[in-house]
Amino acid sequence: MSRSLLADASIRLETALKYVSISEDASERLKYPKASLSVSIPVRMDDGSLRIFQGYRVRYDDTRGPGKGGVRYHPNVCMDEVQSLAFWMTFKCALLNLPFGGAKGGITLNPKELSRQELERLSRGYIEAIADFIGSDIDILAPDVYTNDIIMGWMMDQYSIIQRKISPGVVTGKPLTMGGCQGRDAATGTGAFYVISALLPKFDLIPEKTTVAVQGFGKVGMPIAELLANAGYKVVAVSDSQGGIYAEQGLDIPSIRQYKQQHQIIKGVYCEGSVCNIVEHKVISNAELLTLDVDVLIPAALENQITQENAPDIKAKYIFEVANGPTTSEADKILEARGIHVFPDILVNAGGVTVSYFEWVQNRSGLYWSLQEVNQRLKEKIVAEAEKVWSIAREFSVSMRTAAYIHALNRLGEAMDAKGTRD
Ligand code: GLU
Repeated sequence: MSRSLLADASIRLETALKYVSISEDASERLKYPKASLSVSIPVRMDDGSLRIFQGYRVRYDDTRGPGKGGVRYHPNVCMDEVQSLAFWMTFKCALLNLPFGGAKGGITLNPKELSRQELERLSRGYIEAIADFIGSDIDILAPDVYTNDIIMGWMMDQYSIIQRKISPGVVTGKPLTMGGCQGRDAATGTGAFYVISALLPKFDLIPEKTTVAVQGFGKVGMPIAELLANAGYKVVAVSDSQGGIYAEQGLDIPSIRQYKQQHQIIKGVYCEGSVCNIVEHKVISNAELLTLDVDVLIPAALENQITQENAPDIKAKYIFEVANGPTTSEADKILEARGIHVFPDILVNAGGVTVSYFEWVQNRSGLYWSLQEVNQRLKEKIVAEAEKVWSIAREFSVSMRTAAYIHALNRLGEAMDAKGTRD
């Protein structure tokens, strides 16, 4: 793919714009990120040397509320990726009708190479560098790839030190003891499970006869594989960044989870003596997982996994995008022509930010909800929006992706026009 990730993401916007009647002013503004910050973060390493890391925060749009979006720690993080992720957050928040705009942040690094102390200094340094750009009514952070509740706790603490007051609302996905929300860690997977459970029956699929492959077995892929297996689906393949495993008769997800938690890797899970429940299996690569002969494919890792190169070989009939941006716009065309149903990221993975919203609400009110209440509210919200996207897709005879963008665009356009242009 030669064009930038943001240019590719914007193609979905162009397609959906043909079906909405929002003002030209609004559609023009949506083509550009509102503000992009690039910072260097000096970190004292454990050996006494100083290393400078590159960090970013982008607020794509804040018409509907403060910017909202995670912070990614990954070697491939760059401004183009962060802008694209912030673009997707804008549409995701509008789609779920959350009172937020879209934002995203990231630091270019391999977090596995840093000690815990170095990671803490880096995370606090990042907040030092972007403190003037964020705030609970300006731009709110959260976890993303390779960041977690512990890192969110450090970030919230550092921001509170700078502000000289406890400021829980500036970060979501915090540890429970620091104002976190029940169920936030598994929320992206839980939300995806609710969407899948609401939409697959429309195709007369029943769990026991449905095979599933999940790419990515981290904090998102793991809960989704587990929820699907518990609901009776046959999860036949899972993978992490090092590769995966396939077993035609279905995998034993709890054993794999246990192994992954102990060894940080899936490969070897069925080696002699490693788990009690040995299943006949094949070791596969990530590329092989994508083209397996399964009913449902769930990319739950990184962007640009399904491209024009492998789209002709995809055998799954249903793709639920749990990662952000796993399918390129060229691949979209190929999949659509082949009659493969793609359920888009901005709907399928919106459970994470929805529960982030619940966390932010609880931080503001000081009253905390039970796990049951969180999941009940998440289910109601995400299933209702999934149903709306489904009916828009039927009404305009468009893909679920275009329908999701139409739905989000209508809300964004309405908010932008209500605000006026101020000129
Ligand atoms: N990183 C998640 C996403 O891409 C969650 C963002 C949030 O909770 O703000 O949707």
